[in-house]
Amino acid sequence: MQCDSQSWSRAGVRVVLVPTMGALHAGHEALIRRARKLAGRGGMVVASVFVNPAQFNNARDLRAYPNTLAADKKLCRAEGVDVLFAPRTLYAGNASVAIEETDVSLGMEGASRPGHFCGVATVVVKLFNLVRPDAAVFGAKDWQQSALIKRVVRDLDLPVRVVVEPTVREPDGLACSSRNFLLSAAERRRATVLWRAIGLARKAARSGGLRGLKQKLTLFIEQQTGARVEYVEFFDEQTLKPMKPGKGARLALAVFIGKTRLIDNARI
Ligand code: AMP
Repeated sequence: MQCDSQSWSRAGVRVVLVPTMGALHAGHEALIRRARKLAGRGGMVVASVFVNPAQFNNARDLRAYPNTLAADKKLCRAEGVDVLFAPRTLYAGNASVAIEETDVSLGMEGASRPGHFCGVATVVVKLFNLVRPDAAVFGAKDWQQSALIKRVVRDLDLPVRVVVEPTVREPDGLACSSRNFLLSAAERRRATVLWRAIGLARKAARSGGLRGLKQKLTLFIEQQTGARVEYVEFFDEQTLKPMKPGKGARLALAVFIGKTRLIDNARI
């Protein structure tokens, strides 16, 4: 990968990277389309598929993660990806260097999944060093992750433009996610509770019913059979610091539907 990217760099070819963990869906597709536009006709779009063990804090979760590489290849070809980079591993057996961010990554996903963002930051920097992209495209679906990547790029002076694409949703509002493949038909119907909770929060912000909103949302979600809230958080979308619910805040949710953990976020 690095040999190719070095030769593109020498030839002045623009390179745009879309990092993923595979099991590609309409959300990834939107990122790839954006990458295709950013790269232009002469540029290279690289999509990476790597289920990064370092970002899983739970072995069962890693084992259960869907793998659909043959279908991913087809989707990449159809969307004009030039290179699908799907390494079997990216780490030396005794790898001992990792990247720690200590501000935007501490709350929410960082608090719920110890070590997760260290794994994310490290693998993304490794991918940047291998692919040497001019730009990389991430999804707003993982808002905190994109904030983390922007911070890593800023603080380590990485020569990469970070582009964030809006969340792609199913017609019933459920954010597209590789983890949706793990839901049974009944769970898939129940999973719309995340989007319905976002709707409820928006309604409360319009009508001024903000007192106890976090608790109300938790109760609302947990009324749904098989749903368990891990966190409901309102935060400032730039600093990622918690803030009072209200207009301009962003709401993030992490909810188990059965055994599958789903996250979503939206501006209120
Ligand atoms: P993943 O394969 O889940 O690690 O995601 C790879 C990239 O796709 C990340 O930048 C995600 O934020 C992004 N992504 C995942 N789901 C969506 C979605 N529904 N809409 C937009 N981007 C997404």
